[in-house]
Amino acid sequence: MKLIDEYRDPELARRLVGAMRVRADQAGRGVTIMEVCGSHTYAIGRHGIRGLLPEGIRLVSGPGCPVCVTSVHDIDVALYVAGLKGVIFVTFGDMLRVPGTGGSSLQKVRAAGADVRIVASASECIPIAQANPGKEVVFMGIGFETTTPTIASMVRTCRAKGIANVSVVSVHKVIPPAIRALLDDPDLAVDAFLCPGHVSTILGARAYDEIVQRGRAAVIAGFEPVDILEGIYLILGQIVKGEFSVEIQYRRGVSPQGNPRARALIDEVFEPVDAEWRGLGTIPGSGLSFREEYRGFDALKRFEVPLIQSREEKACRCGDILKGRIDPPGCPLFRTVCTPDNPVGPCMVTHEGTCSTYYICC
Ligand code: SF4
Repeated sequence: MKLIDEYRDPELARRLVGAMRVRADQAGRGVTIMEVCGSHTYAIGRHGIRGLLPEGIRLVSGPGCPVCVTSVHDIDVALYVAGLKGVIFVTFGDMLRVPGTGGSSLQKVRAAGADVRIVASASECIPIAQANPGKEVVFMGIGFETTTPTIASMVRTCRAKGIANVSVVSVHKVIPPAIRALLDDPDLAVDAFLCPGHVSTILGARAYDEIVQRGRAAVIAGFEPVDILEGIYLILGQIVKGEFSVEIQYRRGVSPQGNPRARALIDEVFEPVDAEWRGLGTIPGSGLSFREEYRGFDALKRFEVPLIQSREEKACRCGDILKGRIDPPGCPLFRTVCTPDNPVGPCMVTHEGTCSTYYICC
């Protein structure tokens, strides 16, 4: 507990806020910082960090919530597979209420009779498959570099043990191509990136070199209030100096080289493919598909999925929020039609979603 207390120390936080104000004055201009990670979005809202920022320093959310960036088409495919006879569909809980086309969801499919089960870890698919040899167990493979190794490990175990009734709808995504897509956007009005702590435990620091090469500051930060304040303080330091490098504030979790074993595990099972992101469109090499030797675990090869005409809810502005273009109050449905009890888009569903965070904390 001592460690956590240290990163929640109010006196330390106050000193950092004061030091940030000095640096903000030295910068002499407004600074917009994108927090890439959904866990940062949640922590920023929960700890009231926005209210502590010096005038002119703005935090905007990015595409770091895996549920939020999953395209409506991928959700529709999952809903189709979940509804098939003989399928046990297994998912993390935060996918349950994400709306597909026309407002359907795994929760609604389950209410209509489908066998949809919630797990905390992909490895739970194995005992479910062993207990149900006559059924197909399909896992919703969602997440970034932090989650994907656990799913790769589950698949590898299934192969080693000859468990054949498990497959995965792979909508995994990788972060660096998404950051590149943001940097390529001529309308991107962001001066710096607060890089994701969890993903960086796997990727290390080099994954963000392109950010600094393209004239933006970058700091990998942890999730406690002092972590985030110090991360912003370091970002302002880079901006004041006009010298950019990928700094690691979250040293207790992230090493410069990341976790090569976890990356090798991902690489053994998956290969990069182009993937569609909500709000960002199709990004080259940003998704993961099964390599040839693991292709038997691909649910989309195992089940015939018909052509699905997917349609995003027109008034929902999740796409603009995920690109840092607007904050949730900029969406006309925020708090009026769209609430956590009646989410219109994915950003209102999961606790890492920007709209949900704003609804609860702001
Ligand atoms: Fe979409 Fe609701 Fe957020 Fe608006 S408030 S962008 S409808 S999730």
